[in-house]
Amino acid sequence: MKYYDKDTVIFHNGEFIKAEEAKADLFSQSLHYGNGVFDAMRAYDTALGPHIFKAKEHITRFIEAAKTMHLDIDYNVDELVGVSYQLLEENGFTDAYIRPLVYADENMDLTPTKKHNLFIAAFRWDKFLGKDLLDITISAYTRPSPYSFNVEAKISGHYINSIVSIAEAKERGFDDALLLDVDGFISEGTGANFFFEKGGKLYTSQRGHIYPGITRNVVFDIAKSLGVEVVEGQYKPEDLNDIDGAFFTGTAAQITGINSIDKKPMNKDWENTIGCEVFEKYRQFVTQSEYDNYSII
Ligand code: PMP
Repeated sequence: MKYYDKDTVIFHNGEFIKAEEAKADLFSQSLHYGNGVFDAMRAYDTALGPHIFKAKEHITRFIEAAKTMHLDIDYNVDELVGVSYQLLEENGFTDAYIRPLVYADENMDLTPTKKHNLFIAAFRWDKFLGKDLLDITISAYTRPSPYSFNVEAKISGHYINSIVSIAEAKERGFDDALLLDVDGFISEGTGANFFFEKGGKLYTSQRGHIYPGITRNVVFDIAKSLGVEVVEGQYKPEDLNDIDGAFFTGTAAQITGINSIDKKPMNKDWENTIGCEVFEKYRQFVTQSEYDNYSII
């Protein structure tokens, strides 16, 4: 996949510049030790023009997560939402994936880095997880322990866990992996939250060992509007033996249905699941133009 070409404009340290002309420091602490913080947003083409779904929520958590790594961002939420809209305009995008990243300056120590850099890119990314319906496996790797990492922050280095789990799943012929937490309970996917359906209810892992996604919250709202109960709890792999459906949720993944888990198919065809209904509502929700907080800055 190509993320930029000669015309692509990015936002880098206060300026809109050509992606091809941007320079980053090879001595950056982020490159060597993974100390960067990022977020992910999607802009959808609506009747009123491009709309970045839940932009304020994304930027707020980005700024907060950056603080936890001593990478304080010099912009407030409204300013960064404005920059993101301008970036779409600079690139002529209506539908796009937007990736803000704050990364450290040169520092070969493990001490907090005083100077850092802000980078925002926009590009097209339609099928994040590759296929419409996934065949997944429960990974031999577990998610990082919340006692070792702040798992509720999107820190670049955390994604090594996702990279090794996907590689291992693919080597065994699967599309992606579902990970357990360090106590053996189902946690989440490599870059998405996980839901399963049984007896007309949805089940998902409680907070603690997961990254609590914005899309996960949107699914709670949609389920409520459909009169479907969502039960948050701790589930074991055995709880997945006889289920009606399952899906991943995330800004990039959106709602991606799961075809099988460790070769065990779902009881229902995807089209007949609550997940599919949630997916359709989600598509309507993100592309509708009447939002309470609708604004193009
Ligand atoms: N879990 C992980 C590990 C993720 O990387 C993501 C994607 N950011 C999610 C869950 C879903 O988060 P969101 O819905 O906010 O995109």
